[in-house]
Amino acid sequence: MGLYLRPTEIEEAVAALAAGKLTILAGGTDFYPARVGKPLSEDILDVTALAALRGISEDERSFRIGAAVRWSELTAADLPQWFACLTLAAREIGGRQIQNAGTLAGNICNASPAADGVPGLLALDAAVEIASAKGTRLLPLGECILGNRCTALAADELVTAIVIPKPRGAARSTFLKLGARKYLVISIVMVAALLETTSDGTIAAARIAVGACSAVARRLAALEHDLLGRKLVSGIGDIVTAPHLAPLAPIDDVRAGAAYRSDAGLALVARGLEQLAVP
Ligand SMILES: Cc1cc2nc3c(=O)[nH]c(=O)nc-3n(C[C@H](O)[C@H](O)[C@H](O)COP(=O)(O)OP(=O)(O)OC[C@H]3O[C@@H](n4cnc5c(N)ncnc54)[C@H](O)[C@@H]3O)c2cc1C
Repeated sequence: MGLYLRPTEIEEAVAALAAGKLTILAGGTDFYPARVGKPLSEDILDVTALAALRGISEDERSFRIGAAVRWSELTAADLPQWFACLTLAAREIGGRQIQNAGTLAGNICNASPAADGVPGLLALDAAVEIASAKGTRLLPLGECILGNRCTALAADELVTAIVIPKPRGAARSTFLKLGARKYLVISIVMVAALLETTSDGTIAAARIAVGACSAVARRLAALEHDLLGRKLVSGIGDIVTAPHLAPLAPIDDVRAGAAYRSDAGLALVARGLEQLAVP
């Protein structure tokens, strides 16, 4: 076993990251399963005692979710309905024990194509707050996860929070996950959708993201464009066609074939939009 640091102050944490190579540990629910049967020889920076990474706060423009906020804290929080694309995902992540330990930032930084939190965070237009000894930067989530198990974080950086802008008008969101069974399952496809509407029910903004169908969850720009200006009414799901899913690149694996993933993705996107049309 190497060094184990568990600082309480962010300055201490970023100084330690600047001083030498450390592996960041949060809830450990991805960290430990990846090391089963291997000796723990890395130097560890445990971020769970950092006060700056805890809690959910808001100001006029945005919500700030601390990087060490756990899935169960998120579901217990009093958040507006338009957060459903994330809170519904939180309820489907692992079981209670995993939700009590696993964090949002860990889900992002592990960068699994099947990370259930990522489509919802894309639909929420989230940005990732990143700190190092050199300062703090804010990166759109889409620029933070670069590929399967690959992020834009430098070795001396840690995620401190996820920042979510408030919608300008009325907004609703949803999340649908398909797995080989209902609970405790790795996603075959998941869909997050957020729609903002004007007072007469016209769609003014749309963000639709699909996970587990490409190396990184992807937004469907053409579909988002085609939704603008339409009324959010029953039947809205009918506008979704296969070309709208062109940004995806599903693969065959042990969980599902690529063709099945494409079909299921199409059905789930349409179903998600229909859900949002229900008054
Ligand atoms: C039984 C089981 C079921 C699961 N079910 C699901 C599921 O249904 N859906 C799903 O999406 N996931 C699932 N997971 C995976 C996991 O629980 C989640 O991805 C969780 O959110 C990871 O968070 P963590 O805090 O445990 O991360 P950790 O394991 O502590 O860390 C994960 C990675 O992120 C890095 N990291 C963590 N925090 C930071 C930070 N602040 N800054 C920089 N890097 C950081 C670590 O270095 C590591 O590389 C499951 C895991 C298990 C064991």
